[in-house]
Amino acid sequence: MTKISTVAIVGGTHGNELTGVYLVKKFANNQDLITRPSFSSQVVFGNPKAIEQCRRYIDKDLNRCFSRADLQNANLSSYEDTRAKEIQKILLSPQGKACDVIIDLHTTTSNMGLSILLSGEHPFLLGLSSYLSLISDDVKVCCSPKSQNAVYLDSLSKLGFAIEVGAVAQGVLNAELFQKTEKLILAALDYFEAYNQGKLPEIPSFITIYNYIGAIDYPRNAQGEIEAMIHPLRQFQDYQPLNPGDPIFLTFDGQEIFYDGISTVYPIFINEAAYYEKSIAMCLTEKKTVNL
Ligand SMILES: [Zn+2]
Repeated sequence: MTKISTVAIVGGTHGNELTGVYLVKKFANNQDLITRPSFSSQVVFGNPKAIEQCRRYIDKDLNRCFSRADLQNANLSSYEDTRAKEIQKILLSPQGKACDVIIDLHTTTSNMGLSILLSGEHPFLLGLSSYLSLISDDVKVCCSPKSQNAVYLDSLSKLGFAIEVGAVAQGVLNAELFQKTEKLILAALDYFEAYNQGKLPEIPSFITIYNYIGAIDYPRNAQGEIEAMIHPLRQFQDYQPLNPGDPIFLTFDGQEIFYDGISTVYPIFINEAAYYEKSIAMCLTEKKTVNL
C-alpha cells in the first residue's frame, strides 16, 4: 500500500447527529489538531441544509446517495443527490485523485459505544481498529461485505470508514461521547502518520469483529403499522448474544415475541430511531476473530 496523502473527516452527513457536526466545527477552527507532517487533512460538513435545520436529511438519506450509478445520473436532482455529487468533487485532489481516507462521523440512538464500521475486512483498517481498541475499551468493529454498488459516503475512498457513536439522542450533544470520539479520531490520524513514517505501533495479533448478516423489521400489521416494540430485555443490549428463543419484541398488550433464528447472533442498531422508516428494528451480526 502506498503512503496516505489525503484524509477527510466528514461530520453532519446526517444533520441531526451533532457529535460529528460539532467535532468538524472544532477541527475547522483548530486545524492544528488534525494536522500531521506527512499528509493533508480536510474537514467537510456533509449535509449543510439538514445541519441548519437539525434534521437527518431534507429529501432523502444522503448516506445512500453515493453509488457510482447515482453519482453519474444527472437526472437525480434532489438536494441530497446534488450534494453527493458536490461532496465527490470536494474530496478530489486538484489532480482528480480520490481522497485516500474518509472518516465519516455518525451517532446512533443504539447503545453501540464507539463502533467502527468497515466495508470488507481491509487489513490496514483492521490494524487501525485494533490500535484504536487499545485507546478505548468502548471500541467495537463491524464489517459489512464489500460491495461494488456501495452507497455510503465513505465508499468514495478506498480506506473509508464510519464511526457510529452511541447511545445518544438525535439533536443532542453528549460531552463524554464527544470527547471519546475526538480522542479516537486524533489517534487514527496518529496511526496514519506512524504508517507513513514506517513506524506502526505494536498491535494485538487478533481482533474480534462483528460481521453484518442481515436486518429484522418490527412485527407489522397489514397496513404496515408497528405491532410491537423492542423487548425491554433487549433494549441497549447491542453486541450481546441473542439466542434462539430469547425474547426480542413486546406487543402493546404485553405479549412477548421470541427470536426464531437457528443460531446465536449479535444484534446492533437495536431501536435506532432513524431506522423505523427503513423497516429495521435491529441489524444482526456474527462474532468472529480475525488474525492480524
Ligand atoms: Zn448517521
